Amino acid sequence: MRLLVVDHPLVAHKLTALRDRDTDSPTFRRLADELVTLLAYEATREVRVEDHEIRTPVGPAHGVRLTQPKPLVVPILRAGLGMLEGMTRLIPTAEVGFLGMVRNEETLQASTYANRLPDDLSGRQVYLLDPMLATGGTLSVAIRYVMDRGASDVTAICLLGVPEGVEAVRAAVGDDAPVHIVLGGLDEGLNDIGYIVPGLGDAGDRLYGVV
Ligand code: URA
Repeated sequence: MRLLVVDHPLVAHKLTALRDRDTDSPTFRRLADELVTLLAYEATREVRVEDHEIRTPVGPAHGVRLTQPKPLVVPILRAGLGMLEGMTRLIPTAEVGFLGMVRNEETLQASTYANRLPDDLSGRQVYLLDPMLATGGTLSVAIRYVMDRGASDVTAICLLGVPEGVEAVRAAVGDDAPVHIVLGGLDEGLNDIGYIVPGLGDAGDRLYGVV
């Protein structure tokens, strides 16, 4: 398993505005969207391409195109939905699946409540979207879910994470697993109710309001 914490001044700038408790929901949604596009640029460095010959108006040229089957982008509901457009802006031809996961706020255990994914993911490159890598419970279950269906490699894109969450995922999936975690920032740790400190609060609530 590999970890990349993206080190870029624009990511740091947007993340700071995103964290600010005075940032309202519309601005939060826009910033999350912009951040994901920046993180996706790094996260897709190993997206599979094949040789492709074309003709420019001037002559033949050698290029590449995305291979089939196309990458599968999977936002983890609900908060991951706020990352979907930022990701598909960069890979518009990607297929999109959905995984609904909820965290029990007392036990902090994650469980799956909805799934709209192909049963067979053999050989597929999967991009999981979840803004907060906190305890790592949700991400570990989601990674196992897609790998059990045959995904060949999994990249998780998160706006923020903490070291214990990263290590929990590593312990759950195994150090040798073809898993790549891409973070916009790595924070100090978790508070006693499992929130990232300093973090940005509840990502779903900040994106969509409290329900
Ligand atoms: N989920 C959130 O939305 N925020 C956190 O800080 C941790 C988990």
